[in-house]
Amino acid sequence: MKMIGVCVTSLCCICQKEEETTEHLFFGCEYSIRVLEYLSDWLQLNINSPNALSWILGYRCSRLQQRMLKVTLTACVYCIWYQRNNSRLECSLQKPETVALDIKKTIKSRCLPQISYPVRNKDAQWLAKITQG
Ligand SMILES: [Zn+2]
Repeated sequence: MKMIGVCVTSLCCICQKEEETTEHLFFGCEYSIRVLEYLSDWLQLNINSPNALSWILGYRCSRLQQRMLKVTLTACVYCIWYQRNNSRLECSLQKPETVALDIKKTIKSRCLPQISYPVRNKDAQWLAKITQG
């Protein structure tokens, strides 16, 4: 954006500390790391944020958990990009905890009801925990 004259600076408009690159914005920036950490705690899956995408693709877990990870990561990318644009264009930025809470609420209301039952016993226990969390 700076190279084509759209932006004055190439610094990350969220943290103002590092060059804004795809790698920085998506889970290198302290803001996106905090969003992902919050959701990682909720899902109880200990997501490795610096390499979130490759970590998720290689993570050994049930198919259901794998789907939830992908949905969560997709929602994170969308919401962080949205926050980045709000920060750049509107000078407005929600706290990472607020963004994560919105993602969590959306997943709980839109995705969890779509799960087809029955699921394995281990998945059922995991779902019960994240539904309450
Ligand atoms: Zn940043």
